[in-house]
Amino acid sequence: MPETRVAPAQLAAASPYELRVNLGKHMPESDVRSALASGDMGFLHSFTTGSTVDGPGVRVVAWTAGCMWRCLYCHNPDTWTMSNGIPITVVRAADELKKYRYGLKIMSGGVTINGGEPLMQHRFVVKLLTAAQAMGIHTTIETNGYYGDRLSDDELDSIDLVMLGIKTWDQERHRRLTGVDVAPTLEFARRLAARRRPVWVRFVLVPGLTDGLDDVERIAAFTASLGNVERVEVLPFHQLGRYKWAKLGIAYTLAHVEPPSQDAVARVCDVFRAAGLQAY
Ligand code: SF4
Repeated sequence: MPETRVAPAQLAAASPYELRVNLGKHMPESDVRSALASGDMGFLHSFTTGSTVDGPGVRVVAWTAGCMWRCLYCHNPDTWTMSNGIPITVVRAADELKKYRYGLKIMSGGVTINGGEPLMQHRFVVKLLTAAQAMGIHTTIETNGYYGDRLSDDELDSIDLVMLGIKTWDQERHRRLTGVDVAPTLEFARRLAARRRPVWVRFVLVPGLTDGLDDVERIAAFTASLGNVERVEVLPFHQLGRYKWAKLGIAYTLAHVEPPSQDAVARVCDVFRAAGLQAY
């Protein structure tokens, strides 16, 4: 597999809302497959620094390319395709992280791997997070949990915090919203609970799609029953990624949906709090 040279300016992004396409298109399919199998190379949409919304403290975020879900409200559809990402060796990615290790410690932060869906490249993710832990950097992934069973118990220990997205409880609505079943996500949540791994649950509030209070109550009851969820983050739907759907030529069905009101967000937070959870 050829060594990949990535200019720092190419990897860094002001925000994940930058549209990025075809950055790994030159890689032969066989090289992509062998990179995924070994984990020696991954495909990143970008690196961003200074995030205060992707885990505890201030964080460097590696945004991975590749996702098998098709959420109707996805704000990064350019991360769905692996070949849109920049191929980067795990050694190079770890070197990039190394630059920030002291600053991250001072700011009680760490590294978060987000996506896309990080576990599409689970071997790369585990290698990168193991290297980060060896540098004393706190490690987090944000995941939809669908491929949680790809991680061994030992590999789970390379992740200090899992931020798990639970989209909706209702099976049929989950399929409509994401294209897949919710069961593997819930199964991963149970496994993390059984191993007492720290988890934050993330819930995107989309008016008309995920705001049914019965549905939220069931997610809250399930989440509270796990016993390892440190907090719940209620994320209001927004339209920041809408332009990407247009640029990529993908039909976007939520153009008419307004972000939820502050009152609606507060009501949903209250449902989680009533179940005994910390919700923000
Ligand atoms: S799981 Fe995340 S990256 Fe994948 S489609 Fe859904 S919102 Fe987008």
